[in-house]
Amino acid sequence: LRARQADAPTGPGRTADGHAVPLLANVGSAADAKLAVALGAEGVGLFRTEFLFLDRKSAPTVAEQTAQYAEIFRVMGDRPVTVRTLDAGSDKPLPFLNLPEEENPALGVRGLRLSSVDEGTLLDQLTAIETAAKETGTPVKVMAPMVATVEETAYFAARAADAGIETRGIMIEIPAAALRSEHLGAEVDFFSIGTNDLSQYLFGADRMSSSLAALHNPWQPALAAAIAMVVDGASKHGVKVGVCGESASNPEFACVLVGLGVETLSMAPRSIAGVRAQLAEVTLEQCRAAAAAALSARTAEDALAAARKALGRNK
Ligand code: PEP
Ligand code: MG
Repeated sequence: LRARQADAPTGPGRTADGHAVPLLANVGSAADAKLAVALGAEGVGLFRTEFLFLDRKSAPTVAEQTAQYAEIFRVMGDRPVTVRTLDAGSDKPLPFLNLPEEENPALGVRGLRLSSVDEGTLLDQLTAIETAAKETGTPVKVMAPMVATVEETAYFAARAADAGIETRGIMIEIPAAALRSEHLGAEVDFFSIGTNDLSQYLFGADRMSSSLAALHNPWQPALAAAIAMVVDGASKHGVKVGVCGESASNPEFACVLVGLGVETLSMAPRSIAGVRAQLAEVTLEQCRAAAAAALSARTAEDALAAARKALGRNK
């Protein structure tokens, strides 16, 4: 393994037979973006904007936000950046939003749902994102977190279009959105599957609970089934599908994602090298065989073993 890592290819992500899989970074700060560039990220697939504002007691102004976004866009230069609008609430409370206490914040007013009680925060953010994109010339896309319905998808796409943002998408992290991806796909250009929350809601298992780790195992066949459903729904409208949850950073599962038809993978910058090296060793056909094997497995353990075999890793 050591020898393989030393020989790890650099440059863009691709399989041994040349199928391109852009490897993108998840970032929350300019420091993360610098690390992403240093480690060869081809862009940012998830810019977690709430991380910039976790400590603020008062709402950031449009000018303050513009400056912060522009700083990160400049680091990325002409590499594409997907900005996620605020995913506040639940595990990421923002003090300045003054939200009411909730019994079950993971199931509460969080992500895009905040705009139903405070639309101004979303509109200001979209304005700041578009201003910073124009200022820097970086190709910027926006996406909304925690979307469940067609109405929410259409609402977000319309507000982003009003702000002048051309490429608009949503995260798929609620099972209802996965089930109805064909209908949601009619409203947007891309989907980014957030497997951390998708697993949480699919299995009814708190993502913060270490005792439930077995249910968050990416090899749980139900997760692959949900992803396959999203890819299928997206294909009806030519909607691009990426994955930006932790599962994309598991090198073998990344191959399964590619085999399922996922086009881009976004992960912590330090995970990119391992995924790049693994992809370079397998063909697209092997990835497809691994995906089929994982989908038809009965258990997570069987899915991992079957995928490994298809990837030629059972020696
Ligand atoms: C996810 O839910 O998978 C995701 C990428 O978003 P976050 O971890 O920020 O909720
Ligand atoms: Mg999430």
